[in-house]
Amino acid sequence: MRRLVRACFSGSEGYSYAKSAEDVAREHGIDRVARLASNENPRPPSPAAVEAAAVALQAANRYPDTRAAPLIDALRRYHGDYRFVTGVGMDGVIETVIRTVVEPGEAVVVSTPTFSFYGLAAAAHGARVINVPRREDFSVDPEVFIEACRGAKLAFLCSPNNPTGNSVLPEMVEEILEEMEGLLFLDNAYIDFADIDYRPLMRRHENLVLGRTMSKIFALAGLRVGYAFVPEWLEPFYHRAATPFALSSVSAAAAVGALADTDRVRETCDHVKQWRQRFLDEVPFRTYPSDANFVMIDVAPRTGDEVVERLAARGVLVRSCTSFPGLGNRYIRVSIGEDWENVRFLEAAKNL
Ligand SMILES: *Cc1c(COP(=O)(O)O)cnc(C)c1O
Repeated sequence: MRRLVRACFSGSEGYSYAKSAEDVAREHGIDRVARLASNENPRPPSPAAVEAAAVALQAANRYPDTRAAPLIDALRRYHGDYRFVTGVGMDGVIETVIRTVVEPGEAVVVSTPTFSFYGLAAAAHGARVINVPRREDFSVDPEVFIEACRGAKLAFLCSPNNPTGNSVLPEMVEEILEEMEGLLFLDNAYIDFADIDYRPLMRRHENLVLGRTMSKIFALAGLRVGYAFVPEWLEPFYHRAATPFALSSVSAAAAVGALADTDRVRETCDHVKQWRQRFLDEVPFRTYPSDANFVMIDVAPRTGDEVVERLAARGVLVRSCTSFPGLGNRYIRVSIGEDWENVRFLEAAKNL
C-alpha cells in the first residue's frame, strides 16, 4: 500500500530528531543524561504558567477561544500594539503561512544552512524549494538572497540562525524587504537571547512576518505554542487557512502565565549569556559566536556523528548538524543547559 503515499514523504526521511535522552541513558547505563541537543529551556515552566494551565484544564470540556483572544491580549501587553496570530508551535505558524500564500508549484526561498522544517513544510505543500546558500562564514549575502527571491511569494530567513547562531542585522533585513515582492518570514525563535529588535520593521513594511515561539526562553516546548507578528492584510486570510481550534486552551493559558513572568525570562537570559561566553572561551575546538541559547562547534577532523556518539557515552546528549542541508558533517550544536550539564559537557569536550 506504500504506493499510496505521496512522493515527498516516501522518498525522503522527513524531520531529523535528536536521539532521546531515555535511549542514551539505557544504551550507556547512565542515570542522568545532560540534555543539550534540542535548545530547550532546562528549567521547568514558570509557576505562573503551570497555575494558569491547571485552571484552564478544568474548563477543557469547552473548545478554545476561536482566535486565542486572551493570548493575543497578553502578547499586546508584552510587545505593544502589533497584530498577532498563533499556532501549534512556530512550526504550526510556518505551515499555516505557507498554506495561506503558496500555490503548488510556486517557489519558496530558504536561506541555508538552517532549520530544516521550512523546506520540508514547503515541499509537503507542493512548493518548489529554492535553497540559497549563505557565505562561507554563514553570513547572508543580501544581493544573492534578493536575486533568488525574484518571482517568489515567500522566503524564509532565520535570525539568530539555527544551527550557526549568527544574526542578520536589521538594516540588512530592511534592504531585503525593500527589494523583494513576496513575503519574508523572519524566524526569531532565539531572539530573546540576542540584543537585536526587528519589531520596528513591522511598522514600516507590509511584507514581513516575525515568527516567535514559547518553546525556548519561555520553557513551554511540550505545550507547543507559537505565534507571529503579521501585517494587517494577512491576518484574516491566515485564519481562513488555519486548522480550527488548533492551539489548545491549556497551552494558550500557560503561555499567558509565562509571558507575565518577566523576572524568569531575564534570569534565563542572563544564565544563557554567561554560559555561552564560557563555551566560546573553553571549548577546545573552533566555535562560532552565537546570539542564541546554543553554540555550533566545528569538530573536524572528526565528524559530528562520531562526536555525538562519544559525548553520549559520557552522558551528554548534543546534536550532530549532519542533517542540516548544506552544512557538511563536521559540526555539532550544543545547547546551554543547567550548570551541571554544562560542566559535564565542557569536561567531556576537553577529554575527547
Ligand atoms: C525550535 C525552533 C522553532 C520551532 O519552535 P516550536 O514553536 O517549538 O515549533 C522554529 N524555528 C527554529 C529556528 C527553531 O529552532
